[in-house]
This record gives sequence, structure tokens and C-alpha cells, in this order.
Amino acid sequence: MKDGINDNLSREISDLVIDSLADYAIFTTDEEGNITTWSSGAERVLYYKREEILGKSVDLLYTPEDRALLVPSIELGVALREGKAIDERFHRKKGGDKFWASGFVFPMFDKENQHIGFTKIMRNISEIEQAEINLKEESALAQTIVQSYSEPLVILNSNLKVINATSSFLKLFTRDKATTAIGKQLFDIIDAGLNVAQLRSLIDVTLKSHAFHSNFDVEFNHPQTGTRLLKVKPRRLYQPPNLMFSLEFEDWADNIALNEERDVFISVASHEIKTPISVIKAYVQILQRELTEAKPIVKKAVGRIEEQISNMGALISALLDTTRITTGNLVLNQEAINLCSLVNEITASFRMTQSSHKIIINKEENGVVYADKVQIGGVITNLLSNAVKYSPNADRVFVNIEADDNRVSVSIQDFGLGISKSEQHQIFQRFGRTKSIKKTNIPGHGLGLHLSKEIIELHGGDIGYSSAHGKGSIFYFSLPSY
Ligand code: ADP
Repeated sequence: MKDGINDNLSREISDLVIDSLADYAIFTTDEEGNITTWSSGAERVLYYKREEILGKSVDLLYTPEDRALLVPSIELGVALREGKAIDERFHRKKGGDKFWASGFVFPMFDKENQHIGFTKIMRNISEIEQAEINLKEESALAQTIVQSYSEPLVILNSNLKVINATSSFLKLFTRDKATTAIGKQLFDIIDAGLNVAQLRSLIDVTLKSHAFHSNFDVEFNHPQTGTRLLKVKPRRLYQPPNLMFSLEFEDWADNIALNEERDVFISVASHEIKTPISVIKAYVQILQRELTEAKPIVKKAVGRIEEQISNMGALISALLDTTRITTGNLVLNQEAINLCSLVNEITASFRMTQSSHKIIINKEENGVVYADKVQIGGVITNLLSNAVKYSPNADRVFVNIEADDNRVSVSIQDFGLGISKSEQHQIFQRFGRTKSIKKTNIPGHGLGLHLSKEIIELHGGDIGYSSAHGKGSIFYFSLPSY
């Protein structure tokens, strides 16, 4: 009697435990595989109600393909023989929907050790699988991003767990240059050097408002350089529910200071180099005059020296001018000038210094502008010499001067190498030379167009071009009429 009470009690407890396992389908069958008990978890996982499934064959829960292969009875056979059968396979819910499940089957024996049936524990693992796949995808993506960045960057999920980070991030912001940041909470690893409270609230705002496109500034106290602002760029990489985003930290102060330093350096260095270069040039010219009796090879060598010195002089002047422009120190000496006369003057000297190309002025409309003659002359010279230089297989360059009441424009057309579309964005940048030109041995420094654009814009004008790779280019500028 006492045993009976204990038996009932332990059965009730085990039923309670079994029913509390919501994600697990737990049921028993007789020796033939007919279902004898059915847990609430089984109702939730497999959709069959207890009353409708009791007495039915376990085969119902298998896919038709598995049934055809006799998988249900093979599984029970394995369980009986080996004490358990474990596998992962598709099972069927009521209604026929398939799901991926892991299952354990155990044989049951009575007190006399007679086999009386089986217990099966089954878990729907489709979601777990999907979550694992997502996790793998996320970490592969994060790894690729981190590998392609050298800037400080951290990749986080919505709980601010670190999915990955660049080594420059770890070096700058983590206490002990954490090598194992992955999986940790962002605020458990970053250093007090960053204004943590500020960063925390800005991340919070970003997450709440989904404003992954808005950059924000955060204070950073560097041991050597003191407190400064860092620009933080948040970017969303994955959508919710698996939200993954990156924070990139950019040190603007550093960039600005660096650029200014570089400009001052270039300016001072160019200025200092300019004088000795002029002196060398003067001596080379004296040498050339005195070398009338020398061997041709010596004359040729001195000629080359003079050529190179002139190139260097031009480069130094261009460098000086660009730094003067960027530091706002270029003073324009503006006067009323006739662009036609200026273009004619320059083309005339061009005709004298080179014979490879005919410089043909096709259209000459008189137009006066208020401009710095030396600087605008420099722009025309640059466009003309580019037209000649970058059309080694052509023999002519066309020039047009057009004027109306508002503007005077000059265009220079060559029939040379042209510029491919993909390279067109580079050419007005400082030191911008196209890749295909760099591969040729045509000399240049990528300063002329940058300088020309700055000068034309300082005069309130526009500069532009159209070009087709392999066909040639038309460069043009226009200035307000005077
Ligand atoms: P540089 O000629 O000294 O390299 P520029 O600033 O004058 O410097 O020109 C920048 C780049 O633009 C050149 O290196 C070349 O790649 C391209 N470019 C300029 N003019 C032409 C042109 N007429 N035809 C083809 N490419 C040109």
C-alpha cells in the first residue's frame, strides 16, 4: 500500500517534470511502436492532442520517405539491441509539416525485465540550427570586414556583445590590448580613455532610433595628446532580429593636424629647394654656353641636366602654389586681360618649344576677364602641355576661345589616350594620376590639374572635361566676362 502511494507520487512528479519540458516531445510506445503516453510538450512540438494520438503507430511521425525505408522499426530495433538509438532527422507534425529534430529512443522493461515498449524524447532543433547558421554567417562576415579595415572598428550585436574588432581598436581602446574580445560585452573591455558614459548613451540613441547613418562624436583622453573628439561612424550590417552593427572610430583632429603639418612642411621645403635649384640652373646655362668645343656626348648630358632641373623647378613651383592655395596664402594679381591674346601668346611659345603637334586655334571670340595673368597663363600651359603629352600618337591639338556677355571659355582638344570612366574621379585630386598613365613612361606629378582647378575656382570660374578612353579628351575652363 505504502509502495503504491510512493509509486503514484513518483509517477505524478515525473509527469510534472515531463510536462514542464515545453520544447521536448516525450512519449512512450508499446513493443510494436503504438503510442501509449503523450506529454504536453509532445502536443506543442507535434501538434497532435493526446486523445487523438494514443494507440496510433509512431510511424505517423515519420516522413513517407523514412517510412518507405522502414526507419521507424529499424530505430526501435537499434534501441532494443543497443540500449538506445540516437539520431537527427526530419519528423512530421500533424498536418504534414516537416521539421528537423533530434531524438533519443530507449527501451522500457518491467520488473521482470520483460520488454514492454519504448520511450522517445524528441526536440525540434530547426530554430537552433537556423540560429547556428546565422551565427556562423555573422561571424564570417564580421571576420571579413575586420580583415579589410586597419582603422579602429568594432562589430557588435544588439546586446553590445563584441562579434569582432580590428587590432587597432583593441590596441587603442581596450585596457590590456584584449586579445580575446570576441564574445565579451563592449563596456567590459573598453578603457576609461574613452568617455564611456557618453559612448553608451550615444549607442543607445542609435539603437533606439535605428539611426545607423548618423555619425557622432565621442571624447577620448589619450595619455600623450590629451582629450580630443573622435568621430564615431555606426553602420548596420545585419537587420533585426539578428542585428549586427559596426562602430568605426576616426580621429579627425589627427587628420587635420597631419594635413596642416604636411602643407607647412611642403611649403617650407619647396621654398628652401627653390633657391638652390635656380642657382644650379644658372650654372648649367653658363656651362652650356661655354661648351661649344665639347664632345657631343658631354653637350647632350649637360642638356639633359638642364631639362631635369627645369622639370624640378616646375614641380617645386607647383608644390609651392598648391600649399599656398590650401593655406589661403595665394594672392591674386587681378587685372583686365584679353583671353584671346593670352592664348595666342602661350600657343606661340608652345609652337617654338615642340614640333610633334600642330596647335590649331579653330575659334577665336574676343573676351576680356578680370584675372591673374600669370596664374591663368599657368592653367592654359598646363592644359596644352597635357594635351600634347597624353597624345603621343597624334599630331594636332585644337584650341577654341568662345565668349558671350557672361563668360569666356577656352577648350583644348587632343586625340590621345583619353581617360576611362572609372579613372575620371582621380584627376583633379592632389597627386592624382590615372593608373593607366602611371604605367606609361610619360612624366608627371599629378599636381597641374589640381592646381588649375583651384586657380579657376578662385577666379569664380569652372573647369571640366569630357574624355573617351583611347579617343582623346577635351579640357575646358570658363571665367566670368569682365
Ligand atoms: P601630370 O600630368 O603631371 O600627371 P595633371 O594634374 O596635369 O598632372 O594631370 C593629372 C592626370 O590626369 C594625369 O596624370 C593623367 O593621368 C590625366 N590627364 C590629364 N590630362 C590628360 C589628357 N589630356 N589626356 C589623358 N589624361 C590626362
